[in-house]
Amino acid sequence: MTSAKYPSIKAGTDSLKLNTGATVPILGLGTWRSPDEQVTKAVEVALKAGIRHLDCAFAYDNEVAVGKGIKNSNIPRDQLFVTTKIWGTFHRRVEEGIDISLQRLGLDYVDLLLIHWPVALRQKGDEKIPLREDGSRDLDDERTLNETWKEMEALVAKGKARAIGVSNVSKPFMEDLLKTAKIVPASNQIEAHPFLPEHDLVLYLQSKGITPAAYSPLGSGAAPVLEDETILKIAKAKGAEPAQVAIAWQAQRGVLVIPKSVTEHRIISNAKLISLTDQEMQEINELHKQPGKHIRTCMPPWGVDFKFDNYPPPGQKV
Ligand code: NDP
Repeated sequence: MTSAKYPSIKAGTDSLKLNTGATVPILGLGTWRSPDEQVTKAVEVALKAGIRHLDCAFAYDNEVAVGKGIKNSNIPRDQLFVTTKIWGTFHRRVEEGIDISLQRLGLDYVDLLLIHWPVALRQKGDEKIPLREDGSRDLDDERTLNETWKEMEALVAKGKARAIGVSNVSKPFMEDLLKTAKIVPASNQIEAHPFLPEHDLVLYLQSKGITPAAYSPLGSGAAPVLEDETILKIAKAKGAEPAQVAIAWQAQRGVLVIPKSVTEHRIISNAKLISLTDQEMQEINELHKQPGKHIRTCMPPWGVDFKFDNYPPPGQKV
């Protein structure tokens, strides 16, 4: 795999064009596991540091606090790019899902609405992850991603989402979706970092005009990307933070990148996009081939192998 296959993104480029024509800042702030009492300030710090892209989700249970940070910043709405996601139990009621998120965020529309997982969960009251009696997730097997996508398409016409996309979608799921989609997804948000580059999937998405977005780009505290000797070596040579190296690598291969932090000095340093040389890009491209350096942190790999590769085996708890 060579970096030459990626679109030629000039180092330092800070935005990309979606297939809708909209401009999206490459670098955003992630908000998963950002507690209410910290995320308002984190959003304010990020926006003050020049970040204009926020990654949110109904499932993160903190959209009200994120919305407060947006409001406190006084930045005009049209200068922000806000993403949120439809949770698994909302596949049969997508509009209700976005209405809740919009109300919580205090917004009239989102710039990008994603389907959080390609598989639907059965609704059981307000349970976020309804379980079957055997302890496995209560998947709504009769609901297809394609059917949920149709409801997403309707929201664009209603103006509630400027662009729509998916998350955790593998190539087989995407191929299946493209067979019936009237609107080609604008983005697919997937786990990606130097220990899980997803080269093939990223290149496939780019070939279809679908902008990939990397979640857990720093390894989510579970893959030791920021302690890797190659990342540390490159960071040291540039007088940069290891996180800045992991972030710049995504940006320069044309992938949106949404590191999460609630720590002021990290948010500020993460917001500064550094430049990597072709040689450095290539070294990071190859890292995952080293023993022990291929790590997926988000399990099960929803959509990556799930339906098409029979994961998980029947009866296995997930
Ligand atoms: P990240 O890879 O962004 O890592 C976050 C962790 O890294 C936190 O512990 C944070 O700590 C720490 N960190 C941040 N900056 C630095 C730094 N400069 N140096 C050292 N450590 C640092 O993990 P996430 O899993 O949170 O992924 C990012 C975002 O992607 C999420 O917040 C969410 O918005 C999205 N996401 C989407 C998913 C999906 O299914 N679509 C799944 C998972 C994530 P601290 O906050 O204490 O500073």
